[in-house]
Amino acid sequence: MTDCLFCKIIAGQIPASIVYQDDRVVAFNDINPQAPTHVLVVPRRHLASLNDLTAEDDGLVGEIVRRGAALAKAAGHADRGYRAVFNCNADAGQTVFHIHLHVLGGRTMTWPPG
Ligand code: AMP
Ligand code: ZN
Repeated sequence: MTDCLFCKIIAGQIPASIVYQDDRVVAFNDINPQAPTHVLVVPRRHLASLNDLTAEDDGLVGEIVRRGAALAKAAGHADRGYRAVFNCNADAGQTVFHIHLHVLGGRTMTWPPG
């Protein structure tokens, strides 16, 4: 999608601190980190929100989640733990409408979230 911030990052039109990429998934550091590790894992294909997923995307979602777990593990957070979250639409605070998994680690998280 031409006017999507994350599509522009994926296309290399906007700079980002990319930590992983393959033919289906890209991961980059959040520009406004909420924890010592705050990575966003996104599909290359534009999907606006979780509401747009179909059964055909099950494999892609699995890749996103497993990549997030691998990046958290690589950052040393596997044992102490980390948080992985998708925000969907306004009540959850979604601001960029291209699906992204937040992977946050390196500090203790609270629950429930704000
Ligand atoms: P959400 O509120 O779940 O839609 O999350 C959007 C995230 O994108 C926020 O955590 C922002 O800090 C992050 N973000 C916005 N612009 C950029 C950017 N240019 N590069 C990296 N992360 C960004
Ligand atoms: Zn997009």
